Amino acid sequence: MSTQIKEFKTIIAGERMSASDGATMNIINPANGAIIAKAPKCGISEVNLAVAAALKAAPEWASKTVGERSKVLLKLSQLIMANLDELAKLETMEHGSPIRKTMNFDIPLCAEQLEYFAGVGRALTGETLPVGPWCTSMAIREPLGVVGLITPWNFPALMVVWKLGAALITGNTVIVKPPSITPLTTIRLAELAMEAGVPAGAVNVVTGPGELVGEAMVQHPDVAKIGFTGDTVTGKRIMSLASSTVKQVGLELGGKNAFIVLSDADLDSAVEGAIFSAYFNTGQVCAAASRFYIHESLYDQFAAKFVEASKSLKYGDPMNMETVLGPVAYAAHRDKIEGYIGRARNAGAELLLGGERPDTPDTKDGFYVAPTVFGNCSNDMEIMRDEIFGPVIALCKFKTNEEAVALANDTKYGLCASVWTRDLRTGLQLASHIQAGTVWVNEHLMIFCETPWGGCKESGWGKDLSTMVLKEYTKTKHIYLDLSPAPVKPWYMILK
Ligand code: NDP
Repeated sequence: MSTQIKEFKTIIAGERMSASDGATMNIINPANGAIIAKAPKCGISEVNLAVAAALKAAPEWASKTVGERSKVLLKLSQLIMANLDELAKLETMEHGSPIRKTMNFDIPLCAEQLEYFAGVGRALTGETLPVGPWCTSMAIREPLGVVGLITPWNFPALMVVWKLGAALITGNTVIVKPPSITPLTTIRLAELAMEAGVPAGAVNVVTGPGELVGEAMVQHPDVAKIGFTGDTVTGKRIMSLASSTVKQVGLELGGKNAFIVLSDADLDSAVEGAIFSAYFNTGQVCAAASRFYIHESLYDQFAAKFVEASKSLKYGDPMNMETVLGPVAYAAHRDKIEGYIGRARNAGAELLLGGERPDTPDTKDGFYVAPTVFGNCSNDMEIMRDEIFGPVIALCKFKTNEEAVALANDTKYGLCASVWTRDLRTGLQLASHIQAGTVWVNEHLMIFCETPWGGCKESGWGKDLSTMVLKEYTKTKHIYLDLSPAPVKPWYMILK
């Protein structure tokens, strides 16, 4: 890929466009701080254009058969795989995710998810309702209309596809507002969607600041729903702004997810699971495990093995196929994580590994955070309460299973958790008491197309993925058919 600075265009009504005032945003490679591209810095006028285009395209897209929409999604899936190399490199360059991950996980999973939605969307049904012999009543599912998707930077392509696939197969048209630091893969996906046969205006991308572009979408009266993944603070803001038009919102927000190792756990499996769930995507995963509760009988062994395994992770240039941990996504995020590390040290957490900014030839210009492990933490510490969104791990001891559940639930978040035990009955009992959208037993971070994803408490509400998401992007209409042969009696004759 050329290192020349390429100017990307936003996509509205099937046209590649610049911002109306020509403003652009620099897109920076977090591995070395270099500007790699520019994207339009749009504003309210582009949102209005995109909503008008999506509104115009809505009847055509909604009137296609689900089979026709399915074929377009399958074509998009194929085009994604045909452009795997380009998309994977683009995502690695804008986000810093290691190429071995974008090439083998993120982009292929985008294609797989579209296949899933192309198939499962065809099985969406309504209901008939037996209210009486003289009538028939049915509840049918209809598209919502124009849907706004506001996506985060931690999985730039995948988070778009999660929502886009569900929104399109159910007959909606879409405006995507990608994150300002990683808009490039979204733009390419929209270009491929047009190539796959999505009509002009059915998929629009408006790049630009969330406070402007995002808020204009949220407040626009012709946008029926906002599907959002991102920070809890932003989610609250979106929820409050959406009330002005009584807009539906789906919120997939932050998490501070507990990883509970019971006294009978298989220690090696638990450590392996811990390494994956703590460091995958350099910890920038809403579902990442970041609070580790280890039974006191296993704590020392777990901590020693976890630290040893953490040391062996290769971090550095994400374009190197050997790298498993890239930089974090942007400089201010690195600084924020370092702030957490400094305050954790001051608060008395025991630093077991890391804590310093890496300074190797590979990392010196990028936004790197080395794997950092704190031991002997307590639930009142900031690192046990805030979503850090980086490779910073906090370990804590517990004595009883009841205490572990109470500690896990002592948070404003409710996204996910895991329990590690050889006793599946105990695992199931704890899972039923943990307040979270997902609880895994002897696994963490296992998210599939087929399984619902979304949290409770301040982690949001609504579901992505699985068949459940189809209801999130459709509305129910009740249709009543009077079948009686004679005219219905006037209402005052029915009342006794
Ligand atoms: P944000 O919630 O700010 O960003 C997510 C998306 O929302 C981006 O597209 C952003 O646009 C947009 N946005 C920002 N402000 C508004 C607004 N007022 N109205 C509408 N849309 C808006 O997350 P950040 O990128 O700032 O990350 C901050 C923290 O959030 C992270 O450190 C992490 O803790 C958490 N986070 C959690 C994620 C998750 O999956 N749960 C994902 C990403 C972040 P723009 O980029 O232009 O600001």
